Amino acid sequence: MYEHDVLVIGGGGAGLRAAIAAQEAGADVAIVSKLHPVRSHTGAAEGGINAALQSGDSWEAHAKDTMKGADYLADAPAVETFARRAPKEVMQLEHWGMPFSRDEDGTVSQRPFGGLSFPRTTYAGAETGHHLLHTLYEQVIKRGITVYEEYFVTRLAVTDEPDPNDRTCHGVTALDLKTGAVEGFRATGGVILATGGLGQVYDHTTNAVANTGDGMAMAYRVGVPLEDMEMIQFHPTTLPSTGVLITEGVRGEGGRLFNSEGERFMFERGYAADEGELASRDVVSRAELTEIQEGRGFGDGHVKLDMRHLGEERIMDRLENIVGLARHFEGVDPLEEPMPVKPGQHYAMGGIETDEYGSTCIEGLYAAGEAACVSLHGANRLGGNALPELFVFGAEAGRHAAGVDLDPPAIEVGPDPDVAREDREWPTELGAGGAETDVVPDGRDLEPGALLGEAVAAERERVEELLTGDGDRGHVEVREQVQETMTAHVNVFREGEGLETALEDISDAREAYEDVTVTDPSRTFNTDLQQTIETRNVIDLAEVITMGALARPESRGAHWRAEHQTRRDEEWLRHTLVNWRDGDPELFYRPAILESESVTYEPEERSY
Ligand SMILES: Cc1cc2nc3c(=O)[nH]c(=O)nc-3n(C[C@H](O)[C@H](O)[C@H](O)COP(=O)(O)OP(=O)(O)OC[C@H]3O[C@@H](n4cnc5c(N)ncnc54)[C@H](O)[C@@H]3O)c2cc1C
Repeated sequence: MYEHDVLVIGGGGAGLRAAIAAQEAGADVAIVSKLHPVRSHTGAAEGGINAALQSGDSWEAHAKDTMKGADYLADAPAVETFARRAPKEVMQLEHWGMPFSRDEDGTVSQRPFGGLSFPRTTYAGAETGHHLLHTLYEQVIKRGITVYEEYFVTRLAVTDEPDPNDRTCHGVTALDLKTGAVEGFRATGGVILATGGLGQVYDHTTNAVANTGDGMAMAYRVGVPLEDMEMIQFHPTTLPSTGVLITEGVRGEGGRLFNSEGERFMFERGYAADEGELASRDVVSRAELTEIQEGRGFGDGHVKLDMRHLGEERIMDRLENIVGLARHFEGVDPLEEPMPVKPGQHYAMGGIETDEYGSTCIEGLYAAGEAACVSLHGANRLGGNALPELFVFGAEAGRHAAGVDLDPPAIEVGPDPDVAREDREWPTELGAGGAETDVVPDGRDLEPGALLGEAVAAERERVEELLTGDGDRGHVEVREQVQETMTAHVNVFREGEGLETALEDISDAREAYEDVTVTDPSRTFNTDLQQTIETRNVIDLAEVITMGALARPESRGAHWRAEHQTRRDEEWLRHTLVNWRDGDPELFYRPAILESESVTYEPEERSY
């Protein structure tokens, strides 16, 4: 068994920033990651990082744009903490050596991004994430922070008090991918989940194959509510054949979208008469799909994005890697012809419910980054707002887990017995039913080390069963079943009947998963075993996303319902929460917080 004060699960931007902050606060920190840190998905980020750095801009304007972009489902204390601290975090990165693109006078360049009232997106060419990961990883190495790479965390070791609000997390179990051994990692201070997004719930996604939402699913199964999971962002410019992202930076620099009739439809068809291509992502994604569905798309269903007029010099200076991506993944040279694009799954606005310090309702368990939901992005994230979130809230979680005293949180967490639970009919049985939970039974009576030992034993048994079972299914067919129904029914456009079909399909997939066996018996880098375990996470998360979408009868941000095409602030300005109560998912709601110390954000109609 390994032991540290603070364990950070995940070596992406959020995990690395959290580890640095915890180490600076005096903790002995270790990072446990299924990928080597610099292979984390943060490295794929292209466009940039928002922060109010220049005169003429302000953190207040950044906060206001973020609330509007979120379609007012964000919590003001989180939004203001974020907007106030982002500039300092970006300057910190600069001092650590992040090679930001610069203007001729040497100042860090900033460019326009969708939904921003000021050009406040800093960047490093179109390889911002790659440089960011390397900059942070250098700091981790310099500080001697321990990194356990290629360890796949499979379960949290949590005490089994009946009420999740009374539980404590003492560590994690992890599969050493190199040897196949299950090991225990104990945290005397705290465990921070920084495991990233869940794009693999869909079959057309910009996310890496590693993005299976493991942290969200593990936290959910030990009793932490998942928040606003129906709010999935679809990015309007992904390459049709692979889902590879064409950064919003292309539109930020002046790239133009057009349909098969040659129209710049964002302006000419009135989708966003002022901002055009720079409207927020939900608006542009719906516009593209409307064009395609009304017969003004190209080929097998895409529109085109043209950047040739920017000129080769500017393109190669600011967007060089886009040229490579389009050439290699789509066989199109964007210096010579427009690129085909269509919407694809891109980002999870929802996630593990946390307060503004990264705490969950379970003592000793924290979350940050895309895995978490501090209610910053609400119903729609603005491009360039995810990366600063990693630093601002990653650092908060790191400091908190290391024991730094903080003010009482403004954002509440946990399944609250006083909140009215939503009692509704579902088209099928949901969840795993009965007493299914990842919490180790009788943990209450065990010392932390013994509790972790029990969790390791339970996990070794699960791995053994998967390796030696006689089921006749493979994880691939089950995962595909989930991905296909999610893309068909829980996509940019949603309607009740389709969502019900998706829930039934997911329930069938859960049943099929009971018969899944790993066919590769080897213990060394057994990707069959790893992906089988991940697939269980994909099933649980698909269900929560679809439940939330079916239960929200309005259209807000990225969540658009055919039968309910307006935003209903009086009833629905509230967060969706789903809690795994020993195997039975339960839905409840909490009001969005629109008031901060200084301002009340009044919901306005969102036009761009
Ligand atoms: C193509 C693309 C481009 C983007 N561009 C931008 C942009 O320009 N600006 C912006 O603001 N945002 C952008 N985003 C969003 C942003 O990049 C992500 O939200 C962010 O990088 C997520 O960081 P993270 O640290 O939370 O997760 P990740 O970087 O995905 O890291 C997750 C880490 O967790 C580890 N992990 C996962 N599961 C386990 C497990 N079970 N056990 C152990 N370790 C585990 C992984 O190994 C990895 O190290 C983009 C996203 C994509 C997909």
